[in-house]
Amino acid sequence: MKDRIGENLDRVREHMERACRESGRAVTSVKLIAVSKTKPLADLQKAYANGCRDFGENKVQELVEKSEQMPGDVRWHMIGHLQRNKVKYIVDKVYLIHSVDSVRLAEEISKEAVKKHVTVNILLEVNVAGEESKFGTSCEEAARMVEEISKLPGICVKGLMTIAPYVENAEENRLYFAKLKQIYVDIIHKNIDNVCMEELSMGMTGDYEVAITEGATYVRVGTGIFGERHYDVV
Ligand SMILES: *Cc1c(COP(=O)(O)O)cnc(C)c1O
Repeated sequence: MKDRIGENLDRVREHMERACRESGRAVTSVKLIAVSKTKPLADLQKAYANGCRDFGENKVQELVEKSEQMPGDVRWHMIGHLQRNKVKYIVDKVYLIHSVDSVRLAEEISKEAVKKHVTVNILLEVNVAGEESKFGTSCEEAARMVEEISKLPGICVKGLMTIAPYVENAEENRLYFAKLKQIYVDIIHKNIDNVCMEELSMGMTGDYEVAITEGATYVRVGTGIFGERHYDVV
C-alpha cells in the first residue's frame, strides 16, 4: 500500500501530465522538484522510494546535511535566497542554483567554482510581479544580467526562475508566467555565448498547472507532496 507521500506524488504527476496534454507538450518536458525544506529525512526517503530524484531546499545548511544522508543520485536544487558567504558550502553539491539574483552573487559562485574545478549551473531569478518582499532582478534588467553573468568562468546560465505571488486563484499568475517565458525567448534570440536557455523554473503547489501550460520546464512543489510545513517558533 502507498503512503501519503506516494499518493500525493501520484496526484501531482497526474496533474502535470494533464497540463502537458492540454497544452500539447511532451510529458517528459517538465520535471518535478520535490521541495523538502523543513521536512524530516524520512519524508525525503519516501519521496525517493516513489521515484523522486530532484529535491529543492532553501537553506544552505539543510541542503548540505540532507545531501550527506540521501543517496548519491539525488539532484539538489538550491531554490532559496543565497548569501555570498555560504556559496562555498554548496558549489560542489548542487545540481542547479535557481536563485541567482545579482552579478555579485554570480561572481562569488564563479570564484568558488573555479577553485573547486566544477561548472555550476544557475538560473537567474526574476521578480516578474515586482513584489517588494521578493528577491530577484527586474524584467528590464534580466537580459543584461544574463549577458554579464555568462562571461564569468565556471558558471553556465541555464535559464530563468520566478516565484509568483501568493494568490487564491492560480489563473491570476498566468500573465507572470507568460512574461517570464517572453523574457526567456527574447534572451534565446540574442544568441549570447555560453548561455543555453533551456529551463524555466516556475510554478508551485498552488499554480504549477498554469505554469506548465505557459512553458515551465521545472515545477517546484512542496506542500502538494509533503503536506503543510510547520515552522518552529523561535
Ligand atoms: C517553498 C518553496 C516552494 C514550494 O512551495 P509550495 O507552495 O509548498 O509548493 C517553491 N519554490 C520556492 C522558491 C520555495 O521557497
